[in-house]
Amino acid sequence: MFRLKKLLNLSPQGWQNFKKAVFAAVLSNISLLLSFMVVIQAIVLLVQPLMSSSPIDTLKLWVCFAGGVFAAALYFFAYKNEYRKTYATAYAESEKIRIEIAEHLRKLPLSFFNKKDLSELTANMMGDCTSVEHTMSHVAPGLCANIITVVVTSFMLAFYDWRMALCLFAPLPLAALFVLGSKKLQSLFGERHVLARIDVSRQVQEYLEGIKVVKAFGLSGEKSRALEAALKNMMRQSIIFEAVTGTFVMMGMMILQVGIGLTVLVGIQLFINGGLALIPFLTFLVISARIYAPLLAIFTLLPELFYLFISTARMQTLRCEKIMDGDENTVLSGCGIEMRNVTFAYNEENVINNLSLSIPANSVTALVGPSGSGKSTVSRLIARFWDVSGGAILIGGRDVKTVDPEHLMTYMSFVFQDVVLFNDTVINNIRVGRHGATDDEVLRAAAMARCDEFIRAMPAGYDTVIGENGCTLSGGERQRISIARAFLKNAPIVMLDEATASLDAENEVLIQAAISELVKERTVIIIAHRLRTVMGADKIVVLDEGKVAEEGRGEELLSAGGLFSRMYRTQQQSLGWSVNAS
Ligand code: ADP
Repeated sequence: MFRLKKLLNLSPQGWQNFKKAVFAAVLSNISLLLSFMVVIQAIVLLVQPLMSSSPIDTLKLWVCFAGGVFAAALYFFAYKNEYRKTYATAYAESEKIRIEIAEHLRKLPLSFFNKKDLSELTANMMGDCTSVEHTMSHVAPGLCANIITVVVTSFMLAFYDWRMALCLFAPLPLAALFVLGSKKLQSLFGERHVLARIDVSRQVQEYLEGIKVVKAFGLSGEKSRALEAALKNMMRQSIIFEAVTGTFVMMGMMILQVGIGLTVLVGIQLFINGGLALIPFLTFLVISARIYAPLLAIFTLLPELFYLFISTARMQTLRCEKIMDGDENTVLSGCGIEMRNVTFAYNEENVINNLSLSIPANSVTALVGPSGSGKSTVSRLIARFWDVSGGAILIGGRDVKTVDPEHLMTYMSFVFQDVVLFNDTVINNIRVGRHGATDDEVLRAAAMARCDEFIRAMPAGYDTVIGENGCTLSGGERQRISIARAFLKNAPIVMLDEATASLDAENEVLIQAAISELVKERTVIIIAHRLRTVMGADKIVVLDEGKVAEEGRGEELLSAGGLFSRMYRTQQQSLGWSVNAS
């Protein structure tokens, strides 16, 4: 039983509720047996007078009828109780599991998400939780209750007539051996089926996400072929899985049903020889029909349970992934940032090599360098989205590895190039910066981020719902909303990642003005491709292949004639670029 608790991966409350659901299911099974007892009693009342040529006792028959009505009512209430206990429990537990997984995911390092793709996580959160939900509601309580019912009734029957009971259950061990013995095989094909299912959701997601590219480049044939192949594979795996499971279950059932024939044969033999009276014989015939129903149900439910164990094992693996922890109450004394001999690799190869760097508090530091030199990686490491492999990063003298990542986030605001917006009102999208901010505070932040004008021009102003991921807004507008969030958060460290890289001139002017205001008296790290926009920074750090190539003020670096000045000259030349139509 405790193994089951572990396998089902239930919370202590969920386990308590599960036991109540099993108990309720046993009660409803037993109440159903009661109606069978009434039927047997009625048969006795009808058959006995025939054998002894005495009149039928109609009064007793009426009592039997009343007993039948009572048993039916009892079954109704027992089943109602079972339904409530089972389903309420199952859905409450699966909700708890989903929230728990979401919470756990939130605390995992980004390195985990680098290894997993989104569809696998969606499968974990939706598919596997649905499997648990289904098992908790439709499989496990029924299975446990049926096992208990079978054990209780078999003891009762053995007490009544052990020879007939033996006939009834004689094929059970062999039948059980078939179903239980094939568990490994069922799990193997079950796992293949789960993987095929995940592959389909990955392909569907890729197809839908890339639909624009698919249309633009005429890839519909190629891409839908990949989706088609995944669907075909899932169909194949489903058929194989059902065939394997079905074969063993059917064999088990067939062997089990031999027991009915055996009971009838031995019963007739005993009856003819005078070793068994008619009434117990009839009783066994009626009971055998009933006792086989829970037994057959056990045989069909067991494979479902085996299949569920694949999901719970996957969920368990996910829950065991190590989260990023740290002190939640650290108070950073100042916001100067220091990187000491930092080394970092996403996979095997180091992308940051023994990098040392100091970013003074309340200053603007620009990270520049060729694409792939490690600018974004450095900013991610400072924010502890990832943990360094070697060396240390200190903020206000504290190693970030010792600070709880969520707490660390309260010290930082981000303005990324790819702004994530939610399908909600504009005001709520800005409020993401600081939950609980008043409407006035949000409006002030929006004004400082030069958002006010375009938001008021929207159909419902600040209450306008922007489409999924802000698809109704332009790139510049999205960016300004992101800056408004940073104003609202009012964190002492600000990271700007390629913030003005893909904007038109008007948006760029507005955004530059907003940013100039945002960076005042804060520790600011700007990742920029366009070097002229960061010439006024307090410090420019030039990265190359994960190392600091040079650092200093803009003018100094220009006159040094190193990588920075070469990149600067190349960019100045490209300013004169235009499309040549001839
Ligand atoms: P930059 O911001 O200077 O363009 P990045 O910090 O994004 O450079 O990338 C540095 C190196 O790390 C590149 O070689 C890039 O391919 C690699 N890289 C970046 N992000 C990941 C990731 N999530 N997983 C694996 N490699 C990555």
